[in-house]
Amino acid sequence: MNSAEEIWQSVLELLKDRLTPTALSTWFDECKVIDINESRMVILIPTDFKRSVVEARFKGYIKDALREIFSGDFDVLLVGEKESKNITNPPEQKPSDLSGNDYYTFENFIVGPSNSFAHAAAKAVAEEQTKAYNPLFIYGESGLGKTHLLYAIRHEIRRKHPDYNIVFVRGNDFMNELITAIQMGKNIDFREKYRSADLFLMDDIQIIAGKNSTQEEFFHTFNTLYEAQKQIVFTSDRPPSEMYTLADRLRTRFESGLLADIQPPDYETRTAIIKNKSIQLGMILPDDVVNYIAENMTSNVRQLEGAVKKIRAYRDLSQGENSEITVTSVARIIKDMFKEKTAYIPTPDDIIEETAKYYGLTSAELRGQSRTRNTTLARQIAMYQIRRLTNLSLQDIGGLFEGRDHSTVLTSIKKIENSMTEELNQTIKDITANINARG
Ligand code: ADP
Ligand code: MG
Repeated sequence: MNSAEEIWQSVLELLKDRLTPTALSTWFDECKVIDINESRMVILIPTDFKRSVVEARFKGYIKDALREIFSGDFDVLLVGEKESKNITNPPEQKPSDLSGNDYYTFENFIVGPSNSFAHAAAKAVAEEQTKAYNPLFIYGESGLGKTHLLYAIRHEIRRKHPDYNIVFVRGNDFMNELITAIQMGKNIDFREKYRSADLFLMDDIQIIAGKNSTQEEFFHTFNTLYEAQKQIVFTSDRPPSEMYTLADRLRTRFESGLLADIQPPDYETRTAIIKNKSIQLGMILPDDVVNYIAENMTSNVRQLEGAVKKIRAYRDLSQGENSEITVTSVARIIKDMFKEKTAYIPTPDDIIEETAKYYGLTSAELRGQSRTRNTTLARQIAMYQIRRLTNLSLQDIGGLFEGRDHSTVLTSIKKIENSMTEELNQTIKDITANINARG
């Protein structure tokens, strides 16, 4: 069920059709829902006079609206400050936007054919129905709900087992923490932290592909937890088979659990998501507007959410007749979001940054003069990639690196081309995937 405040916003939307704006703002401005269950809504109205007017004149409207929303009858109880103290359940907080850990629950996840398998798998894990889905590996493109599901699992397990040591870590943080731990000689602490988890959730694991020292440590963490029969869940923007420089033993482990992919939502699911998100934000959009958005925005859920937020901001900021939400106004508001995404052309900075990251270096180190083996190779790869993925001239590329001209760039590129082993080829594929994931 939605939070009390969200339901109240939906009630107000319906009342707008029946009451004048003046009546609404005069009598309902102090209303605050402080409790709701299946059969009763409790509303706090601090001013006695307002409370008595709402009681006498508007309570029936509120009940009608609730019946419309839930297809069921509700009691409506209006209380003042003093009585409200006796209502035990604290009011739920409305998420101020559509984010925050408390928002990412199973209840707020809309299920459709594109994500039902991943959803069911995540739910089974959260409900501890089986130990067979271990590890659970959820993959799919950006903005389709992977992180949402991971948080939902955490939410559920935390509720059931407040004593569990739940570790939630992003692949990137795991890697950075590990690097720091090694530098500070704190490997033991690092191990202890991760290997004592009762539930291990790792978001965006694709980042560890190719990073040998990270993979090594990760492998041991994984084994320890796996052998202790602790549940493990990963998300990734690609399946294990496309993480090119993943150690084979890790790939085998990942594939021995359950792989669940998420696809972009179909039309029906998009409609359901748009409706749900707008209700959560206190709006009920006309059907033709919902359909319009669903027809035009097809790629991912984050984008749908962005459109709904933009429409609400527009509604909140504009006054009077301009604020009406119609297909025409919506088309204007979200016009720039429709633009077909043209093929992503990475910038040289993106390429340098991703290549550096892959080798555990900073962009500055890569651009600089250091000649350690690792840095030299990384620099050559970066030059090769910039040449391949952008239309910069050799001279321009040289200008991106300290003290290099077109001839050193050419030498570097040749070097890479001439030593293209299977391993190097896979490394380049992984870096390219990381670069494209930014687009
Ligand atoms: P990913 O991790 O796959 O890039 P996220 O989990 O961050 O994507 O989802 C992006 C946004 O879209 C989040 O705000 C999330 O709540 C929302 N979202 C994605 N899928 C759904 C869904 N099926 N139902 C409701 N919201 C969704
Ligand atoms: Mg994510």
